[in-house]
Amino acid sequence: MDTTDDSKKTPDLDEKTRTKPGTLRRIVVDRTKCIGARSCVAVAPGVFQMDDQNLAYLVDPDSEDEDTIMLAAQSCPVLAVIIYDDQGKQIFPE
Ligand code: SF4
Repeated sequence: MDTTDDSKKTPDLDEKTRTKPGTLRRIVVDRTKCIGARSCVAVAPGVFQMDDQNLAYLVDPDSEDEDTIMLAAQSCPVLAVIIYDDQGKQIFPE
């Protein structure tokens, strides 16, 4: 089967850093946990999208406000979205 090419493009831990002012700084998607539930995409489609393996990846971490990104992380049934603040402290999951 020749289906692994795309999986190599996005690492198991996909991460992006926000540049907008605020405390929410880094977003990580643990793609080893993702079950393709799509709720992160439904809540914050500018930040999260699904790849052709039905796993979430990060697009633009500045495209939604902090509350929306937190809601997206909280919506994930397997806690695959991890959020860090500007001090490098993990703020979700707590
Ligand atoms: S909500 Fe969680 S499980 Fe669902 S697509 Fe997003 S990261 Fe994956």
